[in-house]
Amino acid sequence: MNLTDSIQFLKGVGPKSAERYQQLGIFTVSDLLTYFPFRYDDFAAKPIFELIDGEKTTIVGTVVTPANVSYYGARRNRLVFKIKQGEAVISVSFFNQPYLQNKVELDAEIAIYGKWDAKKMSITGMKILAQVENSFQPVYHVMQGIKQSALVTLLQAVFDAGVGELITENLPESLLQKYRLVDRKTAVHDMHFPIDESAHHQALRRMKFEELFYFQLKLQALRLKDKALAFGLTIKIDEQLLAVKISRLPFTLTGAQSQSLREILADMASPYHMNRLLQGDVGSGKTVVASLAMYAAVQAGFQAALMVPTEILANQHYESLQELFPEFSVGLLTGGMKTAERRLLLAGLEDGSIQMVTGTHALIQDAVNYQSLGLVITDEQHRFGVKQRRVFREKGQNPDVLMMTATPIPRTLAITAFGDMDVSIINELPAGRKPITTRWVKHEQLTPSILPWVADEVHKGAQVYFISPLIEESEMIDLKNATDLFEELTAFFGDKARVALLHGRLKNAEKDQIMLAFKAKKYDVLVSTTVIEVGVNVPNATIMVIMDADRFGLSQLHQLRGRVGRGEKKSYTILVANPKSDGGKRRMQIMTETQNGFVLAEEDLKMRGSGEIFGTRQSGLPEFSVADIVNDYPILEVAREEAVAIYQDPQWSEKPENQLLVASLTEDDVFD
Ligand code: ADP
Ligand code: MG
Repeated sequence: MNLTDSIQFLKGVGPKSAERYQQLGIFTVSDLLTYFPFRYDDFAAKPIFELIDGEKTTIVGTVVTPANVSYYGARRNRLVFKIKQGEAVISVSFFNQPYLQNKVELDAEIAIYGKWDAKKMSITGMKILAQVENSFQPVYHVMQGIKQSALVTLLQAVFDAGVGELITENLPESLLQKYRLVDRKTAVHDMHFPIDESAHHQALRRMKFEELFYFQLKLQALRLKDKALAFGLTIKIDEQLLAVKISRLPFTLTGAQSQSLREILADMASPYHMNRLLQGDVGSGKTVVASLAMYAAVQAGFQAALMVPTEILANQHYESLQELFPEFSVGLLTGGMKTAERRLLLAGLEDGSIQMVTGTHALIQDAVNYQSLGLVITDEQHRFGVKQRRVFREKGQNPDVLMMTATPIPRTLAITAFGDMDVSIINELPAGRKPITTRWVKHEQLTPSILPWVADEVHKGAQVYFISPLIEESEMIDLKNATDLFEELTAFFGDKARVALLHGRLKNAEKDQIMLAFKAKKYDVLVSTTVIEVGVNVPNATIMVIMDADRFGLSQLHQLRGRVGRGEKKSYTILVANPKSDGGKRRMQIMTETQNGFVLAEEDLKMRGSGEIFGTRQSGLPEFSVADIVNDYPILEVAREEAVAIYQDPQWSEKPENQLLVASLTEDDVFD
């Protein structure tokens, strides 16, 4: 038997069951060996003083009463007897397994697996164990037509045939020693049939390391490939002009802004391709950093583009870029543009007369050609797929790429999902920002206390957002909710406040008009669905009221909260929610406790799992089979360090000690 043999040829596997195994991803003997259990049942016997109420466990004792079966109802019956362990007497019952009576022998020792009831000192038996050895048993994900026991038997047969001996090591000896990892042969065996918990723990630790280490090797390879690709594109930074520009800003850059800008400029000036993620909490001032990088690129004779997810944002950036850089010609490209305007803009991009451009997805359409695209920035990058980013890169001669995200990505995710990127972090807010007071109130409090307070604040000059409840995937209900809320508020405020309504069904021009009017203080209250979720800057808005706040995830709530607290005045966020679930209550609680986006993102990750932050498929987050990026973060970090160290040596793939790695990585992974 060989590792590459098809499992179809194993004894006990027919064509039908082979097909079923294939659906589990098991084609070869090797696949079978690495099809690991997802948990183990511990059949080890425990003394009763160690037992926890409700726990499933094995109890060993001496039978002290004969087994009695009583019948009640047609096919229902109960087998009872008592056992003694030390001085303790324990009642045992089995339901509907009368045939077990034969196995219960007075005065004999017996091992019963079942559920312990501490109050009654009794166990509800599930089975009588023949022996207590090999007590740690694997449980696999199986499917209809494949039994646990069949899978175990098959694995046992494969190990008995000595195939386990064919498993080869794929980690360098130095790493095995450094981290005290068991060898692969032992690990694979002990993943299935550990003699005890500690053997299993060691096996798992090794397999997790292996998985994360190889994952990091591939990421590092990708990163190097990226860098190698753009060897040659150098953007010469005019430090003096830039310093003048910075000195003319209406504020001083924060330390974190300056540091991030330096990192970005260094990448641009280097002959390598920039692939950098700029992370910063909402309101931390990423936009100005990005704008200054664009300025430097244009000064050096290149074009710079800024791509954003919505037209409202594109317009906002367009205005601020024009204001900041009156010396350049700035363009705006969105889907809703008139044909003539669009044609003019495209011509300008192609002949280079437009030096800076901002816009939506329209920026990466086929028809758009750039004369000398040197820098591409995408804002709120997680809304763009990996593929779109790639297209953008191909629009120029591999321009430098900076991605900005205002949804802080926990470090864990940043180095896994985006491990092929460099990361800059703006982890401080501009001085003078007042903390936003966040309060969680119940629906009952809205009319009697919140609305009168809002009216009062409006009277004093405040502007207010009301976010209507989020209904996933139903634009119609979203619209109805927003409209209802709008009508309710209009009725309540009467002539005390001017209320506007913004929702996804409006035309872009209409949305912009409303946003601009709100910014110009023509309205006091803006009722909106979450279309305003990202980026809009109205410094005078100081109150954010979120209806049914428990329907939103933490990151989204944090984004919404970031719409206020942008000016000098004290700001508030009011979460209106009567959450039913514990998760919902906990989210409301956390929101009132912290304003740090990174802390919230970590919490979000813990509460919802990595998949749900961006949606695994969208984010390109890898799926691991044994490792878990949240819980195994320490291993991930070590694996990353080791992977980086390997590639530090340009000749790594020729060294004898790395031959195991070379053999295990495919051509595709590293060399193409
Ligand atoms: P982000 O995009 O990170 O959410 P913005 O770039 O929109 O944040 O900045 C939020 C507000 O803070 C803007 O009005 C901006 O002009 C202002 N701002 C940016 N940097 C500073 C700074 N260093 N000091 C004071 N205000 C700043
Ligand atoms: Mg922004």
